[in-house]
Amino acid sequence: MSKKTEKAQPPPKEAKKPLTETVPEAPKEEAKPEKPQKAPKPERKKKKEKSIYKLYKTENDKAIRLRPVCERCGPGYFMADHGNRYTCGHCGYTRYKPAER
Ligand SMILES: [Zn+2]
Repeated sequence: MSKKTEKAQPPPKEAKKPLTETVPEAPKEEAKPEKPQKAPKPERKKKKEKSIYKLYKTENDKAIRLRPVCERCGPGYFMADHGNRYTCGHCGYTRYKPAER
């Protein structure tokens, strides 16, 4: 009986290859046409509410109109304060403020 001696095989020497991939350089992609930068859509702005509430002031549970109403158009049509005069935006009626002082 002959004993077979297993000869441990030395691990194959792995020659470390320098990683030189010979990948043909891909032609550089042409610069993509610049996309028109879309600005993020701004949220729809709410229409400016006509701040009617600004024309009223409540005092002692009573609504006080801070602007005069148009004489021509009647109540409900306030006149805009233009400094020295009030103007009705509805009919164009202008009333000068009584000179103060
Ligand atoms: Zn008016």
